[in-house]
Amino acid sequence: MERKTYFADILLPLPVQGYFTYRIPHDLADLVEPGKRVVVQFGARKIYTGLVRRVHEEVPKSNAIKYILNVLDEHPVIFPVQFEFWEWIAEYYMCKPGEVMNAALPSALKLSSETSLVANPDFDGNTEILSDKEYLIYEALQIQKKITLTEASKIVDMVKIHPLFRTLMEKKVIIPEEELHDPYRPKVTDYVCFTDQYQDHGKMEEAMNSLEKRAFKQLELLMQLIRLTGYFSKNPTPVQKTLVLKNVENSAAPLKALEKKGIVAIEKRVESRLPREKASAKPEDIIYNEAQQTACNQIESCFERYNTVLLHGITGSGKTEIYIKQIAKTLEQGRQVLFLLPEIALTTQIILRLQRYFGDRVGVYHSRYNLHERAEIWHRVNNDSSNRYDIILGARSSLFLPFRKLGLIIVDEEHDYSYKQMNPAPRYNARDAAIWLAYKHHARVLLGSATPSIETFYNCRSGKYGLVELKKRYGGLQLPEVLVADLKKARRIKEMHGDFSDFLLKHIDEALKNHEQVILFQNKRGFSRRLECETCGWSPQCINCDVTLIYHKHFNQMRCHYCGHHTKVPTHCPECGSAKLTMKGFGTEKVEEDLSLIYPDHRIERMDLDTTRSKHAYQRLIKDFEDQKIDILVGTQMVTKGLDFDNVSLVGILSADSMISFPDFRAFERSYQLMAQVSGRAGRKKKRGKVVIQTYNPYHSAIRYVIDNDYMEMYSSQILERRNYKYPPFYRIIHVSLRHKDPVFLNRAADVLASELRQTMKNRVLGPEYPMVTRVRNLFIKQIIVKVERGPEFARLRRALQIHINAFEGDQEFKSVKVSVDVDPY
Ligand code: ADP
Ligand code: ZN
Ligand code: ZN
Repeated sequence: MERKTYFADILLPLPVQGYFTYRIPHDLADLVEPGKRVVVQFGARKIYTGLVRRVHEEVPKSNAIKYILNVLDEHPVIFPVQFEFWEWIAEYYMCKPGEVMNAALPSALKLSSETSLVANPDFDGNTEILSDKEYLIYEALQIQKKITLTEASKIVDMVKIHPLFRTLMEKKVIIPEEELHDPYRPKVTDYVCFTDQYQDHGKMEEAMNSLEKRAFKQLELLMQLIRLTGYFSKNPTPVQKTLVLKNVENSAAPLKALEKKGIVAIEKRVESRLPREKASAKPEDIIYNEAQQTACNQIESCFERYNTVLLHGITGSGKTEIYIKQIAKTLEQGRQVLFLLPEIALTTQIILRLQRYFGDRVGVYHSRYNLHERAEIWHRVNNDSSNRYDIILGARSSLFLPFRKLGLIIVDEEHDYSYKQMNPAPRYNARDAAIWLAYKHHARVLLGSATPSIETFYNCRSGKYGLVELKKRYGGLQLPEVLVADLKKARRIKEMHGDFSDFLLKHIDEALKNHEQVILFQNKRGFSRRLECETCGWSPQCINCDVTLIYHKHFNQMRCHYCGHHTKVPTHCPECGSAKLTMKGFGTEKVEEDLSLIYPDHRIERMDLDTTRSKHAYQRLIKDFEDQKIDILVGTQMVTKGLDFDNVSLVGILSADSMISFPDFRAFERSYQLMAQVSGRAGRKKKRGKVVIQTYNPYHSAIRYVIDNDYMEMYSSQILERRNYKYPPFYRIIHVSLRHKDPVFLNRAADVLASELRQTMKNRVLGPEYPMVTRVRNLFIKQIIVKVERGPEFARLRRALQIHINAFEGDQEFKSVKVSVDVDPY
């Protein structure tokens, strides 16, 4: 019978369009399956780990089809629903599937790039099985550490080297270098136990007797092992080998001897790298107040009609307890839960609350975890045993975990813009992607926020999502009292202390006197915005980007936030020679320093990107603040998000105006959300808290809505504007950015692309324009904005846009222009 030839479509972790077809060698025919990783050659000499998408018999047109070199997995690591998810992201957010694969797979599973081959340490040295050519490679690897495909083809004088490599891999002579360092190597620990035969006490006695005469060291060890394993107890348990070696001096040799005699055996156990906790409470023990109980019932009945439900509950209304009930219900059905948070930082508090009820069924997926930990979580989500994680808590990338039976996705703080990935592609919004993923799994989505995004609330209003509201704080607590410090007036009557109004300082004094804590919110990180010459107005600029350098006291440098370029702090103005240079504007670092002059006896700390780079720095800050070791916490956006502290009585917003006046259609909504969220940190447990907003525009409506805690008015005013000015949710926006080092050439390129787009998309195309920052890392940027009405047209126009961009990118003349697309930008 003639054997059929099979082909496989392979996804490669590269920014290239589509899949690539490879030939399956006969001997791998049974092993190649969709979802498994394979090793393939791509281009002239590069080897990559790809994923099998499809196996088929359709002979490709091209006759230069290469063979799959090897199969890495015993079982598929990716399920069809995940492939579909990646494909949807690539299609909707207009990027390449390989880019999604790159974002989705932990690097421990990728093993990609320009792989070299090394000697396999598992090779038993039996060179008789090798052909002459194989032997040449084997020999080469005894001399040099690694070998690339090109080098190898020279050694054996063969152009088609890969079949040779494949047989060498099969014979376990070589492996790809990266696999040698495969970061996903489960942590294995050796345990010592008695063999089955010696479970018999009589037999053990015999052994002891015989050892007594000739091998005293072994007898001594045996007695210790009997004690350590609890041999005579009801439940003898194996003991860690390292523990034995530590406890019994010079026991390595006697242990080997006992093993040889068949008395003890060494058992290998796979250990978890992640800590495990036990649950200490049951979800059914939570006692809900009336409002929560009603909300729980409403969520249930909403889910009968909608896949997605928004829980709009004010800060401190007890949304988390309601989530816990939904989680418990989902687990009862034997399905998994994904709990999304906008920022990993927030998990610190939530994880404890979830572990209290669900113990070690909760896993956390962190970008700050190391490779091993991440790969382990990956495997424990996709697992059929009792070792499986049923609840995953994580930021946006946890959407890509290989869930078996997803039943519920919770998107907490759904309005948060951190759900959107800006760079690199895929530029996806995790909240929106979650809704698609849930749909595929026949799972539900529960969105939660005190300040829902305009888009989400609109979806409730228009009947797409269910809506459940919680309008009271848990425990009968009142919302904080919001006060305004009018900076214009304060400056006029000289009631300012640097950047602090006397009004705010008076409230800080009072809180500190009562041993209560204070949170101060400042929009920007760093010390001081910039340095300015008082004589001529000069400010130091980045040499690579079109931005002003920012002073960082910590480094005592002027730094660029876009490219990291930095210089010394100038002492004189290079334009006019004046030595009168002053700092203008103020960031978190300056606030922290100024405050410590005013309150030298209090502990003041800062929470922003600069102080929380490491995994532990953030946790320590939160812990210290919880333990009341810090009196005043100064922070950026980070302090606005879902944290819960008992003793904070005052929140100060240092400059509301910089948020409100930001030139973006979301500025109003964002300012309201930030102010309302940070206000929610005040007075959560004991008494009514206070919020002081410093502003030059005390009657601005965004501030008024915060004072009145009036989300609905905010929503109504904004939705009107969005409709009038053609913004989301009524229109969808796509940014097409072009980058090039030559601004004149870039202008021409952008004009060409824009006019091509206008041919099909007419006046939906705006620009090209310079964005707010016109040059980053020495590349000039121009932006074309496409605005598309909501509805079925969107998909068609996205496809048209993609075709235009492909053609533009394929144009020899514009090859050097970098194009990137952002769908639903923030
Ligand atoms: P939100 O997330 O809506 O801002 P939280 O879920 O953090 O509010 O709840 C605020 C506080 O009230 C938390 O300390 C929480 O433990 C407590 N709480 C809420 N509901 C209950 C309940 N049913 N029983 C006990 N404590 C509750
Ligand atoms: Zn000057
Ligand atoms: Zn720069």
